[in-house]
Amino acid sequence: MKQYNKSAALFFSFLLVFMLFSGKTVHADWFDPLTIHFLDVGQADCILVQAPNGQTMLIDGGDENDADKIITYLKKVGITQLDIVIATHPHHDHIGSLDDVIRAFPVSVLYMPNLPYDTKYYHDLFRVINEKQIPVDRAKAGVRFRMGFSVKVEMLAPKGSYYKHINDYSAVIMIKHAKKKFLLMADAGAEEEKEILSRGGVKADVIKIGHHGANTGTTLDFLKKVKAKTAVISVGRNNPYQFPSREVMYRLNNRKMTIYRTDQLGAIIATSNGKKVMFKTSPIH
Ligand SMILES: [Zn+2]
Repeated sequence: MKQYNKSAALFFSFLLVFMLFSGKTVHADWFDPLTIHFLDVGQADCILVQAPNGQTMLIDGGDENDADKIITYLKKVGITQLDIVIATHPHHDHIGSLDDVIRAFPVSVLYMPNLPYDTKYYHDLFRVINEKQIPVDRAKAGVRFRMGFSVKVEMLAPKGSYYKHINDYSAVIMIKHAKKKFLLMADAGAEEEKEILSRGGVKADVIKIGHHGANTGTTLDFLKKVKAKTAVISVGRNNPYQFPSREVMYRLNNRKMTIYRTDQLGAIIATSNGKKVMFKTSPIH
């Protein structure tokens, strides 16, 4: 009996040490921060994601004259390579400088929707993709991957193969870090929002508002389902389109959302520990 107690005690101490050890490892991964930078690229989009395990993802690459600004910013925050690059859709304010950015860093894979587009920006981008032999995958609903143990990335759209508006081909990306979710809408409009709602699972804590706050999307229906408390808008100072639209601002304010705008604050940096998201801004434009 005594012998049995001794072995049991030994077994449970080993178990305890093992649990503490593995618990600690898991803890470190779950609660190391995820950082999402919404760069200030004027009337354009450029988002950098730094996962807790050191992996990096760049979503869009600003407009045509933003290359220096983006490359300087990425170097400043210690980026030496881009594991994943996503060109959400081929409009110039999303891929305008992406060719120069991917020339400046090693890139493991690039995702884009299936939408050949006959513009200088598109051809410039493909020139660098071909030069550097970067693998290209299709951005579409259902694409999922992890960035380390604690960050899950899922594309919620595009699901279809034809849309009336180019913006509705946008790769819409959900990033989950433990309990916190970020929904990045690129330039998605009402049609794409409807499609996303039809598949469910859109609840998020932070939403990067679609199409720079244009009234082409961010419908009340969509906001009600997403239930985000915080909105980020990537938009240019005194832009000619008068984005963000009054209607979208009204909807966000009406839902008492906290709004961060790149035209007012410069770069917006969200840091998640899996339980809480903190925001800070950087005046570096
Ligand atoms: Zn845009």
